[in-house]
Amino acid sequence: MLLNTVENVKNNILEWKKQGYTIGLVPTMGALHAGHLSLIKKAKETCDKVVVSVFVNPIQFGPSEDYDKYPRTLDADTKLCDSEGVDIVFAPSAEEMYGKGQRLSNDTLTYVCPPFFYVNKLCGKTRTGHFDGVCTVVLKLFNIVQPDKAFFGQKDAQQVVIIRKMVNDLNVPIEIIQCPIVREDSGLALSSRNKYLSDDGKKDALVLSKILNNVKLCYKKGITDISSLKETAYAFLTDKHDLEYLEFVDKNTLDDKIKADDSTIVLIACRVEGVRLIDNLYLGEC
Ligand code: AMP
Repeated sequence: MLLNTVENVKNNILEWKKQGYTIGLVPTMGALHAGHLSLIKKAKETCDKVVVSVFVNPIQFGPSEDYDKYPRTLDADTKLCDSEGVDIVFAPSAEEMYGKGQRLSNDTLTYVCPPFFYVNKLCGKTRTGHFDGVCTVVLKLFNIVQPDKAFFGQKDAQQVVIIRKMVNDLNVPIEIIQCPIVREDSGLALSSRNKYLSDDGKKDALVLSKILNNVKLCYKKGITDISSLKETAYAFLTDKHDLEYLEFVDKNTLDDKIKADDSTIVLIACRVEGVRLIDNLYLGEC
């Protein structure tokens, strides 16, 4: 069932709560692919009712980012969700989410701002305000849907750490479930932004997963020095790749690592054909 208003969603939620159903929420920006589908399947497995939100959230995009051209495929998304047995697809307009005539700025709108330590690194370094926008919309969705569990992808690992921090710091009574990265057979992590890439670009984009796999291989052989691991990684880059970062941090706290170990997550962001792609890999168990 496709719903566009907060009120309609809330009415359904009220009814479900009365019946004692558990509710799972999968927040997305749409253009759904098998990565999103894995979250939906996990939600279906573990919750009585599943809500998928489809909302391209304006306040998490910077002024020079791709908000306007971000792929919007609501009809296909709704069909896919229907075929997966999703109970509600919640696809509000920006006005429905933030209010008619509301200026989307932190002068006039209440934002949830995660701690500087967590946002002043990795994706947050170049995407100023991005995680404020993410946490704000996610908390709003949590308040609207009141799920028992919410499902997020490891693909956006920094986002999951930050959302877990928000939930913990603000006593939000929702369990955050992280689901593994879904990849093409080639190794390329699925992303709605892969649609921007040409066939050649998709081949060049394989460098992200190749670098991560090579780092893990070297780590398994006993190399823990991060400079050495970075050096071997850089050898994979060509003039087709514009590396933004390759970082080694603690998988739970995002603290920088002095040496690689089993609690390390390696994260990469790289532009290919001008498209900003991200990927990551745990060196130890997930
Ligand atoms: P997005 O629509 O890009 O905001 O993503 C919505 C959710 O799907 C986020 O929690 C993402 O981490 C997750 N997601 C995106 N791509 C993948 C993927 N390849 N594998 C698993 N989860 C993913």
